[in-house]
Amino acid sequence: MVAPALAWLAALLVATNPPPEAIAKPAAAPVMLPASAREWGAQQTRAPGEPRAIGGFSAGCLQGAATLPPTGPGYEVLHLGRNRNHGHPALVEFVRRLGKGARRAHLGLVVVGDLSQPRGGPTPSGHRSHQTGLDVDVGYAAPPGVRAGQLSAVDRERLSPPVAIDLTTHKTTAVWGPHAVSLVAMAASDPAVDRVFVNPALKRLLCEAPTGKAPWQARVRPWWAHHDHFHVRLKCPADSPACTPQDPPAGDGCGPGLEWWFTGDSTATRTRRKETGEKAGPKVPAACAVLLAPEPSQLVRAAAK
Ligand SMILES: [Zn+2]
Repeated sequence: MVAPALAWLAALLVATNPPPEAIAKPAAAPVMLPASAREWGAQQTRAPGEPRAIGGFSAGCLQGAATLPPTGPGYEVLHLGRNRNHGHPALVEFVRRLGKGARRAHLGLVVVGDLSQPRGGPTPSGHRSHQTGLDVDVGYAAPPGVRAGQLSAVDRERLSPPVAIDLTTHKTTAVWGPHAVSLVAMAASDPAVDRVFVNPALKRLLCEAPTGKAPWQARVRPWWAHHDHFHVRLKCPADSPACTPQDPPAGDGCGPGLEWWFTGDSTATRTRRKETGEKAGPKVPAACAVLLAPEPSQLVRAAAK
């Protein structure tokens, strides 16, 4: 039995691999930068300039990030200690919209996990996506007892959203009900959203539901884990010409392709991806290098010492 906090972290780690049908097209001339994920993770401030998502979701960076406040109408952000509550302004606006929409529809408090680091890029913990400030993790439900505006700093770091489905038995918990389904539907129906990743067994349940043919269903795609949160990915914003878009999702995701996720090949692929992902190291577009360069103000401070 894995502790809820560990399960949340583990899910985040495995949630970083792009799905086979969702692999971002490589950006022009990707290069191996001398910068490591540790360097991107060490960035404490946003990169100045206009908002720009640069590169692909799993190999990119973010200029001019906005920061999602820890608390807002209808939502609360967990794990602020990771410093991953930054994103393209379009992502911050999306979370605000979802929080307000969920509150209006009485869907419960929206709990938010990782967005991106202040300048995006790969994370030291091996998080592969979330690199361009266009990805965000959202709980299917809030941890029991958590109320809007009443989350202590300790609880914000300690708590994780409850699981909606058992990864082994595929039995859903009480969390998976009309509220969770409506929250996923609300996210997937947002015009800024490209994809929403959920556990494959949950996707199967959505396919079988009366709403199985609703237009938003095509944006909901299966991915390993994602048993306690879903992952929302926005489309490339109009202000970011160097953002690498993904191909539109093929079909509604409910066909025979969905069954692949329940095969041994799926398990083996997941293992292989985890192994090779750790060895591969971060590759981001050359255009990201400037975001790691010392800012003029930092140079001035260094010279004054
Ligand atoms: Zn995620």
